[in-house]
Amino acid sequence: MRRILSMVLGFTLAAGLSTGCAKQRIAAEKAIAQTFISDEQEEQLGRQVKLELEQKEKIQYVQDQVVVDYVNKVATPILQAANNDRRGVKWKVHVINDPKTVNAFATPGGYLYVYTGLILAADNEAELAGVLAHEAGHVVGRHSARVMVNAYGIQAVSEAALGKNPGMAGQIATQLVGGGAMLAHGRSEETEADEYGARYSTIARYDPRGLITFFQKLQAKEGNTPGVFKWLSTHPPSGERIQHLEGYITQRQLSGTEVGAERLAPIKQRLGGR
Ligand SMILES: [Zn+2]
Repeated sequence: MRRILSMVLGFTLAAGLSTGCAKQRIAAEKAIAQTFISDEQEEQLGRQVKLELEQKEKIQYVQDQVVVDYVNKVATPILQAANNDRRGVKWKVHVINDPKTVNAFATPGGYLYVYTGLILAADNEAELAGVLAHEAGHVVGRHSARVMVNAYGIQAVSEAALGKNPGMAGQIATQLVGGGAMLAHGRSEETEADEYGARYSTIARYDPRGLITFFQKLQAKEGNTPGVFKWLSTHPPSGERIQHLEGYITQRQLSGTEVGAERLAPIKQRLGGR
């Protein structure tokens, strides 16, 4: 199977190089990921990584049900929108209790993780929604499964999905928590997730510029406390990135009225923020 994969990958790469079109490459790679990793395998892999996050990385979930319900309420319309692009994903949203870390990530199978540090860093609901929508975009684009296959190979990933390779699932968990470069997505995947995110935010009636203001703010703050903003290390907010997102929003005439600073404020208070 690996040989077939490398053949297909080789062809895809050649096609991508000859046309120089990143979108085509992404579409082809998505088809490959779909062929080699079934939805069920993705779900199994997500479950194994979750186990490792809990056991090896000792992540702690927020116990405050008000906060959990709030994050799920923000996520629900976004994930419904995402389901139009990829049916059958059973989304699971988890809030990690770690106020000092600004991070969020998604794993195959529709597992979304958001840190309380990221919630505290957001100024309004639209910013939180933008990050959740962006991460959902990685799942829709099958980027999350693909980046793992690229890093570890199809066979190891298949074994990990079946629980036969806890060492690898553990490594993935460590990478995710540490904001490691190994599982970071490429620029084309980030662009695609930004675009998905802006669309899902809009469908959920949020101001799609939430992700832009969040990027800009983190970038401004990063100088004071580097290392805390793990999401930035895997999501470099270059001027080009922000410009592209601005252009996409304008071109697609995306807009939403919901900003929701007043709804986020009491949640931040519960988490000990101001
Ligand atoms: Zn991303």
